[in-house]
Amino acid sequence: MSALAGQDQELPQPPPPPRPTLQEVTAAEDRIEELSDSEWESQDSEAQDSDTMATPKITPSEYVRSVTIPIQDKLATGTTEVQDETLEAVLPFLQGNPNDFELNMFGLPTLRKEAHIKFLKHALGRYPSNFAAMDAARPWLLYWSLQGLTALGHDVSEYGERVVSTFAPFQHPTGGFGGGHGQLPHLACSYAATLSLIIVGTPSAYDSINRRTMWHYLGRMKQPDGGFTMCPGGEEDTRGAFIALVIISLLNLPLDLPPDAPARKTGLTTFLDHLGDWIGRCQTFEGGISAAPGNEAHGAYAFCALGCLSIMGAPASTFNKYLDMPRLLHWMTARQSAPEGGFHGRTNKLVDGCYSHWIGGCWPLVEAAGYTNIWNRNALARYILAAAQFKKGGLVDKPGKRPDAYHTCYNLAGLSAAQWRFAYDGGVEVEGEVGKGDLGAAFCWRVEGEWEDQRVWGEGDTVRVVHPVFVVPWGKAEEARRYFEEKEGF
Ligand SMILES: [Zn+2]
Repeated sequence: MSALAGQDQELPQPPPPPRPTLQEVTAAEDRIEELSDSEWESQDSEAQDSDTMATPKITPSEYVRSVTIPIQDKLATGTTEVQDETLEAVLPFLQGNPNDFELNMFGLPTLRKEAHIKFLKHALGRYPSNFAAMDAARPWLLYWSLQGLTALGHDVSEYGERVVSTFAPFQHPTGGFGGGHGQLPHLACSYAATLSLIIVGTPSAYDSINRRTMWHYLGRMKQPDGGFTMCPGGEEDTRGAFIALVIISLLNLPLDLPPDAPARKTGLTTFLDHLGDWIGRCQTFEGGISAAPGNEAHGAYAFCALGCLSIMGAPASTFNKYLDMPRLLHWMTARQSAPEGGFHGRTNKLVDGCYSHWIGGCWPLVEAAGYTNIWNRNALARYILAAAQFKKGGLVDKPGKRPDAYHTCYNLAGLSAAQWRFAYDGGVEVEGEVGKGDLGAAFCWRVEGEWEDQRVWGEGDTVRVVHPVFVVPWGKAEEARRYFEEKEGF
């Protein structure tokens, strides 16, 4: 029975039929319908009766037919038109295999690790002159590539010395990292540089970071209202708050503001003063979290806000203290596109592979705060495997787009969030006792194992665990923190 027909009694008028563009991409007999609960159950039990690992329970086409498109109104706007075009572009990949990729036992493309590794290694190489405009983003290019490679299981130790020597001149004498030699420092560059060096994880990589000047630099970003700017006089947003706490926590910097921090003049004494309240003010009427108070809720800023709160303390404590969680969950659940399965970042926006992480990565954090898993991990994995893999390697925003290191990194991080089950052990003895000092909350995570329920990926499609808060390979954050905890002073 059609889900739309089933809702007739509750609606004042029958919902409109799909718009023409949708009718073109789905034959009448394939029109997207939702199976009733009983149909689902009978199909499920039949599948379980003959359950073998070699037999998919549901083919990709059957899956797509089982997913309801959210009810749409008749008003055609620029927004609805690009949504229809997006669906038209994505559906062939969800239903079939236009790239002729090798398929896993669930009829979905396998994760083409070797092709993606080749793509990312290329991204760490030389760039043509037209990339000059990306010069200030060099720290990001390194981080995205290194993180993506490690998620694919590739050993990046071959890059260790080059990463250290590359970043050395990026570090500013007054603290923090810029985008290149002689460039002014910026929190975004400092974040990408710090994480890259922690991924390398050698003593020379750790010691290449000037922690004392970094502490002073972060102190200059702290604002009287509790937030952080991205650079002196720059924008104050949740990225700044997240990045500052990531760096303080990983490098085990003092929580007290440095004596020269301007915010001290307004009575603030620590990096955490007013911070939770400031993050809380970024939650919008929709329930999501924006860059700064008064802005529109956005997936990437939401991840930064939740990541920041996850470093400030146990998620169950900080999330509930500073956020309206039911409203946040309501907003988050609405960010998973159907039937695409991937996420979009804002209301009425299009599915995009990077939100596999920005929204997908929010879910382990809210689950750690005690909220039930109410997202569809398997649908996200379908989108990533079927629609986000570029034919020649690398991952993309959506079919038709070119791959880049950014979308490759964050599709893979999102796949980790979908494939792995995490638990938060706040208050429990931490392995090796790392993270006992200030801002140690994000070192209390545990990997419980792989997600199994109706999973759609084979063994070869699994990525390495990505730390849910720090977005580095599992274990690397702990190694860095331990190294800096064992160091005396700066
Ligand atoms: Zn994107």
